[in-house]
Amino acid sequence: MSFQKFELHEKIQTGVRMLGYQKPTPIQLQAIPPIMEGRDLMGLAQTGTGKTAAFVLPILQRFMEKPLGHIRALIIAPTRELSEQTLEAIKELGRKTKLRSTAVYGGVSIHNQINRLHGNVEIISACPGRLLDHIERGTVDLSHVEVLVLDEADHMFDMGFLPDVRRIVKHLPEKRQTLLFSATMPDDVRKLAMDLLRNPVNIQIGHTAPVMTVAHRFYPVQMGTKTALLKDILDKTEMESVLVFTRTKSRAKSLALQLDRSGHKVISLHGNLTQQKRKQALDGFRDGRYEIMVATDIAARGIDVTRISHVINYDMPSTTDAYTHRIGRTGRASKTGDAFTFVTGDDMGLAHSLKRILGEKLQYHNVDGLTSEIHNSSSKKNTVDMKSINRRKSFAPHMQTRRKPKQRSFGNANRSSWSQRSQSAA
Ligand code: AMP
Repeated sequence: MSFQKFELHEKIQTGVRMLGYQKPTPIQLQAIPPIMEGRDLMGLAQTGTGKTAAFVLPILQRFMEKPLGHIRALIIAPTRELSEQTLEAIKELGRKTKLRSTAVYGGVSIHNQINRLHGNVEIISACPGRLLDHIERGTVDLSHVEVLVLDEADHMFDMGFLPDVRRIVKHLPEKRQTLLFSATMPDDVRKLAMDLLRNPVNIQIGHTAPVMTVAHRFYPVQMGTKTALLKDILDKTEMESVLVFTRTKSRAKSLALQLDRSGHKVISLHGNLTQQKRKQALDGFRDGRYEIMVATDIAARGIDVTRISHVINYDMPSTTDAYTHRIGRTGRASKTGDAFTFVTGDDMGLAHSLKRILGEKLQYHNVDGLTSEIHNSSSKKNTVDMKSINRRKSFAPHMQTRRKPKQRSFGNANRSSWSQRSQSAA
């Protein structure tokens, strides 16, 4: 089925064509018609499934038909990068329309934002804290909002934004359309959804399991050998763009430094950086100046970088949901990707849970001299696991390590127009 079926305005269809979208993704197929009918919606969709366009296209369509001049759609997201990325999607998809949009988030000058908000924008993409700041200063008028979107709602509440969101909602008209998107659906999200949504259409795309276009590989390793193992993998594997996750900001910084010293083009992204540095890091990673980005979980949600070929969990994420989000950075929009995870003895509990979810999609992998039998924190040998790990010799073809060619292809060759547009994002 093509996008034409939605009977979007010709100017919006041009935006869709210019982004190279040929047919709607499953979430777009299911979500766009009810949203266009004005229904509330709860969308449970994995990261990278195309949910941004699923809400942006109907919003653009709705506003094409009526006069302009007020803030009519408010999109709230948990991170600045995601807000900026959503804004870029609005600008790209709506590039032929006259609709105006802006982003509102902290870490940058509030005065520029105030000026833009005075300029009669129709759509704002915001993070909760700064938006509340504007509400308190009286520099934003939300009394004409017709559509509210809460994106990555589960993460928003992880980060303690729930009270802020409730305060913001008090400033919106009661009569509005509300759309809530979440990759996972913990109880607090479900409760909030019940409060906010009226007779919603429920949409679920796939399970809340990690994306299946990704091959998952676990490396059993001792803490002290992780960096050597990472360097070995980076040297021996053909990779286009690699996102490495660490648990702490300081480790992201120091690991990036070590990789830099080993000659890699690497940058780190974590919450201790200024917004300007965060933007520079992400831009550089998107446009290929850096082949590796070492990041904390601030990069785990929503960030869309085309062609991330590998996600490496240098440190295990804290939950299976967090794994889903990190891994969602690769294998986006049905591309394939590889997810490597370093598993120490302390991580065995979560490793088991992931194995249950992923089944044969997950394979253990050994590297001579670098991976090892692992012990849990009480120093008891995890013999059962490691026996089965060591027995597994045969990997699916896509799990085989590809030898590095002489010339590595870290260039821009495969970057799509989407990533070009993304260069100005975040
Ligand atoms: P999202 O889940 O909204 O972050 O989107 C993930 C990626 O899929 C982005 O790079 C989008 O540009 C891309 N995308 C969204 N919809 C489509 C589509 N219908 N066809 C191809 N790519 C798409």
